[in-house]
Amino acid sequence: MLQVGINGFGTIGKRVADAVRAQPDMEVVGVAKTRPNYEAEVAVRKGYPLYAAVPDRIERFEDEGVELAGTVDELVAASDVVVDACPSGIGAENESLYEGYDTPALFQGGEDADVADVSFTARANYDEAVGADAVRVVSCNTTGLCRLLTPLSEEYGVEKARVTLVRRGGDPSQSSRGPINDILPDPVTVPSHHGPDIQTVMDVDIDTVGLKVPATLMHVHSVNVSLGADPDAAEVRDLLEGEDRIFVVPESFDIDGAGKLKDFALDAGRPRGDLWENCVWGESITVDDGDLYLFQAIHQESDVVPENVDALRAVADQADYEESTATTDDALGMGL
Ligand code: NAD
Repeated sequence: MLQVGINGFGTIGKRVADAVRAQPDMEVVGVAKTRPNYEAEVAVRKGYPLYAAVPDRIERFEDEGVELAGTVDELVAASDVVVDACPSGIGAENESLYEGYDTPALFQGGEDADVADVSFTARANYDEAVGADAVRVVSCNTTGLCRLLTPLSEEYGVEKARVTLVRRGGDPSQSSRGPINDILPDPVTVPSHHGPDIQTVMDVDIDTVGLKVPATLMHVHSVNVSLGADPDAAEVRDLLEGEDRIFVVPESFDIDGAGKLKDFALDAGRPRGDLWENCVWGESITVDDGDLYLFQAIHQESDVVPENVDALRAVADQADYEESTATTDDALGMGL
């Protein structure tokens, strides 16, 4: 059993912990928190051993009657691999901690690419992460685009991709984020950082632009890809329907936006209403003279979760791509 420690138990960390626990070949050694808030309470209720991320703050946990299993150093020492799910930039600060214990580490997409040897999306470059000491699981948007562009590139070739990302202002729990009533070109300069970030994973010609809107549910991408072939829309749809981590939303579901997608996920019994798959609207798939157009929605809080699980197996050299993704998807209950 692969022993996995999780440093940072917020939006991503708590989901990765639950996903690791669901796997037949890995265990959560424990999770590290900076303070005894509601997420620490949930960790305790779920039986995850809780470690103090900042040793100076042990007293705060004791004052609140929250029992600790130790400090983050002990967690790192006890782990075969650590998942760093701290806020952007903190992961890089933690690098020396993991190196000090010779514990391989996964970082998240908020870190710069140079934090790790490999920037990772399972569908695009699983093999590059096998046996690596440090892997960066790229951001939600980059993950979603790599998952989409890899099969298109393999099947038809991608001459040029142009993507407009309509980004949620913040996650549902981020009460300090915005905009509240505005539509922001973000960044106002072109291209946005997403295209270059995708190029840290795969070799593709892509330009991206971004906007931020007052929404918390999901991101929505308007995608245009100039293909190296001229398939019809039905062929592209078949290709995408064959991808395990792409959900082609059927017309008959009458899902007109992110709100109904999230409602569907909750009704379907998904934990936290999570949508691990890219959600591509089937009727949006259009091809005109080799130019593909489609809309996809990306659930920012959860699409990177299966990728973290696969990156753990890759780093531990515990399974190949096919075996890892099949195990991950089966254990999570992927497929809608
Ligand atoms: P978050 O703020 O929800 O969670 C981070 C957690 O780490 C919090 O519980 C915080 O208290 C804790 N923390 C802060 N400093 C710490 C430290 N020194 N040691 C240990 N824990 C510490 O953040 P998040 O949304 O989970 O983001 C984590 C990473 O995942 C970032 O790199 C982010 O860019 C990336 N990411 C986020 C999303 C998203 O939409 N939320 C999507 C994909 C990737």
